[in-house]
Amino acid sequence: MPDVGEGPEGRRGQLALDWSACTSCLACVRDCPDWCIDLTARLEVDPGTGRPRRILVLEQFTVDYDLCMYCGICIDVCPPGALSWTPELLVARPARPARR
Ligand code: SF4
Ligand code: SF4
Repeated sequence: MPDVGEGPEGRRGQLALDWSACTSCLACVRDCPDWCIDLTARLEVDPGTGRPRRILVLEQFTVDYDLCMYCGICIDVCPPGALSWTPELLVARPARPARR
């Protein structure tokens, strides 16, 4: 029996995000056929002028794996290549506490 974290070669596990590369452009959110990516970002305030700069800073990025089809479109459309597959397994857990 394989350990958790192993699996067939080429298997898609989870989406990994390189936070430093993400520009919060929303391309992945817009092109995901299942609308399962949720992203929030904020405008940074330029301390020099006190005006909002047109640079978005990523605050939160989540994927609803109950909806995800593992199609990889989000990876393909990401301009800076901030998304990739990781072989990590999602471990199934009960939707509600188990009865005793
Ligand atoms: S793999 Fe496909 S379904 Fe899953 S988050 Fe990316 S675009 Fe959406
Ligand atoms: S497409 Fe890439 S750069 Fe744009 S928001 Fe999604 S992960 Fe970030």
